[in-house]
Amino acid sequence: ATPAATMVGSTLGAQNGVLFKGGDILERARDVDTVVFDKTGTLTTGEMTLTDVVALEGRDTDAVAADGGTLATRPDLDEDAVLRLAASAERNSEHPLAQAIVDGAAERGLELADPEDFENVPGQGVRTTVEGREVLVGNRRLLEGRGVDPAPAAAEMERLEREGKTAMLVAVDGAVAGVVADADTVKDSSADAVAALRERGLDVMLITGDNERTARAVAERVGIDPDNVRAGVLPEDKADALEDVQSTGRKAMMVGDGVNDAPALAVAHVGCAIGSGTDVAIEAADVTLMRDDPLDVVKAIRISEATLAKIK
Ligand code: ADP
Ligand code: MG
Repeated sequence: ATPAATMVGSTLGAQNGVLFKGGDILERARDVDTVVFDKTGTLTTGEMTLTDVVALEGRDTDAVAADGGTLATRPDLDEDAVLRLAASAERNSEHPLAQAIVDGAAERGLELADPEDFENVPGQGVRTTVEGREVLVGNRRLLEGRGVDPAPAAAEMERLEREGKTAMLVAVDGAVAGVVADADTVKDSSADAVAALRERGLDVMLITGDNERTARAVAERVGIDPDNVRAGVLPEDKADALEDVQSTGRKAMMVGDGVNDAPALAVAHVGCAIGSGTDVAIEAADVTLMRDDPLDVVKAIRISEATLAKIK
């Protein structure tokens, strides 16, 4: 493209809250055939609230320890006790999932304890000691990695995930004691953005660290094909997942908001940081969307097409 055309495109973009980092980005954006969305904070608002607390206390479960041995005895904890330990464990975590649990506990008037130690396991959850008890809050991988069988909570986990919620296991002293769930809201314009992109003939995908069921529930709500969902992707694997998508010759625009997404934004044909995006994401991106609106992804592609069409 001529410098003049790029200027026009960049200016048009800026007027619409779409910042292209350089003229060549406009050309790259025109070649995009696949748009890959991050879920949390990108298609959803990322503002989590605690929606459910389940105590397994007193329930019959037919779980057998993974090694065939006896299960650690399930602690007798009611809902408030499960939530109180989970929230105490999450106090030092900055993850939005954690903050929602802490806020939910405060709303129920629970007084939290001070955890004696704290370990954050990225993409999995947290491990702490609260009042002398070892507490894990996180996904199946977190518990399995520490020899705790998540099976007694399987039915509850599935039920909550099918509702599109992020369900987290709460384990105490080596046995699962309950489940807490957070949900966030799908952005108003996410479905419209997906529909507009598909109308333009683009393939739309979803990539997330969240589990398959939750990811699919959100995908269904916004109109993304279940086959195009990549779930359970660890933060450090997001870039690999994107390279995998592009290995078939696809040219992908990755749209994400978080620190987690930065490596994937960098390997994408076009990396696009959205809205409230973190500085790290913005730095790794080729395009920054000033607003928090997924429809601006469509705008970015339209601007690049329009600009380059004019100068042909
Ligand atoms: P995303 O890609 O949606 O931003 P993450 O990669 O941060 O998600 O986390 C993936 C999964 O790990 C979460 O869905 C959750 O199950 C678990 N997890 C991560 N951090 C925490 C935490 N602080 N407390 C509980 N669970 C967590
Ligand atoms: Mg995100």
